Amino acid sequence: MSAPSCAFVYAPQLSAYRLSDTHPFKPLRLELTHSLLGACGLLDASHLASPEPFTEAQLLALHDPEFVAAVRAVSSGESVPDAPRYGLGTPDNPIFPGMHEVVMNVCGASLSAVRLVASGQRARAVNFSGGLHHAGRALMSGFCTYNDVALAVHEAVTRYGLRVAYIDLDAHHGDGVQDFFYNSGEVMTVSVHESGRSLFPGTGFTYEVGRGAGRGLSLNVPLEPFTEDASYLELLETLLPRALEVFSPDLIVLQAGADMHRRDPLSNLHLSTQGIASSYRLVSRLADRFCGGRLVATGGGGYDPYHTVPRVWSLLWSVLSRQDAPVTVPESWRAQWEEQLGLELPRTFHDPEPPPPSPRRGQIEAANRRTATKLLATLEPIWRER
Ligand SMILES: [Zn+2]
Repeated sequence: MSAPSCAFVYAPQLSAYRLSDTHPFKPLRLELTHSLLGACGLLDASHLASPEPFTEAQLLALHDPEFVAAVRAVSSGESVPDAPRYGLGTPDNPIFPGMHEVVMNVCGASLSAVRLVASGQRARAVNFSGGLHHAGRALMSGFCTYNDVALAVHEAVTRYGLRVAYIDLDAHHGDGVQDFFYNSGEVMTVSVHESGRSLFPGTGFTYEVGRGAGRGLSLNVPLEPFTEDASYLELLETLLPRALEVFSPDLIVLQAGADMHRRDPLSNLHLSTQGIASSYRLVSRLADRFCGGRLVATGGGGYDPYHTVPRVWSLLWSVLSRQDAPVTVPESWRAQWEEQLGLELPRTFHDPEPPPPSPRRGQIEAANRRTATKLLATLEPIWRER
């Protein structure tokens, strides 16, 4: 029997990216998602793929050797006077023992996902531990030490010769990935995020369009705070098919941070599970239309780690693996984790009734529409010249 067409790249050590006990980035999300999918019968041993080993030499494809040496040193408990210069040891980016090795494993998992798909062994693959999209060449930023997802995109381009459309749906701008490929003609980056006027990292505006061979291939869709499902999906439908038609990618890499949900404490976007799942279905359809189905997904943000993230990522997995979306959260799973976490968990995968609409809904939708119009007005003339 042939392997199923979608791989779930997983290993217990990928849950070790634990910045501190009180940090909002909770790697337990992975175990919750993995066990929830198992309980639903949506994930079995034939889907699982182990990450390949990853070497420091591979990190140096995108990261500065001095930075890597600094992370390795703090990771093993050495004092590094330069650490703050690299973003290491701040409240957002605490140092923890073994972090260098732990993040290398995450990078290895994202590279494995790309290799499985680029080599044709699987049509699709996901690494929910990845998506550390803020990390820079020589900078830990926004909880991200090394940029696993940029390394994976780089691998697809350099080793397999693929044109990659990177789509970043995390609530925060995918600044690190954009920077790595700002001049590249082989990678289109599309980031849909809450505007940098109101949210970290403060970048990702419509005028950031790429440079040189990459001019016209960086797309930024900065959304109004409190954007809801309908406006979000309207912008995606307006922009994504057109952008991919222009670029004609071989592979989509999706950064599927789940912090655009309205319960998320670190962003102000107000999506529901229904809206988020619709955005995943759109990306999946685009992969079918433009890339022969080829799609690699990572995780990313998601700071409502118990109520929201496992449900949203399970919905993503059902889309990626072309299985029916789950409806009811299994009782056995809820009982196990409610006891362990000491809190009540939702009974259904989708949110119950939507909350009352924002009183500013009309203004927010109009402002988002103006953003899309402005973006296309900037890009279409550049695209016509490509
Ligand atoms: Zn985020």
